Amino acid sequence: MNTLAEENYLKAIYHLSLNDLNVSTNQIAAALCTKAASVTDMLKKLADKELINYERYQGVTLTAVGEKIALQIIRRHRLWEYFLVEKLNFKWDEVHEMAEELEHISSVELVDRLDKFMDYPKHDPHGDPIPDRDGNFKKHELIPVASLKLNEAGIISGVRDHSPGFLQYLDKQQLIIGKKIKITDIIAYDNSMILQVETIAIHISRDVAKNLLVAI
Ligand SMILES: [Zn+2]
Repeated sequence: MNTLAEENYLKAIYHLSLNDLNVSTNQIAAALCTKAASVTDMLKKLADKELINYERYQGVTLTAVGEKIALQIIRRHRLWEYFLVEKLNFKWDEVHEMAEELEHISSVELVDRLDKFMDYPKHDPHGDPIPDRDGNFKKHELIPVASLKLNEAGIISGVRDHSPGFLQYLDKQQLIIGKKIKITDIIAYDNSMILQVETIAIHISRDVAKNLLVAI
């Protein structure tokens, strides 16, 4: 049994390790908004439990067991987000904080029934893949709208920025998961883009284009 704090560390290390093979104490401290000294204490604990490999000054990697646990937490988080949006009608910008709490309910039976109840969804409301009970999931190749060229099209399938402000902006513009978009103009001056979405044209900034992901 791991504590809530331990689970949050494993999850943070997993997410950080998607970008960097070895995760540093400072990166973890920044991700969890805590001091490097407290991170060091926790890393020692997790290493004693054989959930991470930790050599001072060399960074951290998850052990196979640590990764398995991290994926179960992520599975619970994303299933709860799906449930909150699909069954309780919360908006996609409202569910992350609630899922941060719900993800720590560890009953495997509860999570499996939740999964079955919703007919085994593959992606959460933000387009991120939901691992199955064995921790397997399909990585889908998503690319930012910013890397599409003129006249290229794609289907909105995820976001890089999960902040409520960004999600609310997308909602307002009707740029939501599943919508088909096509690039009809790229403004050379600032690299902003004009998208065709159904019958309307939407002008988006370079920042938005970088944080909105499509499948092509
Ligand atoms: Zn979330």
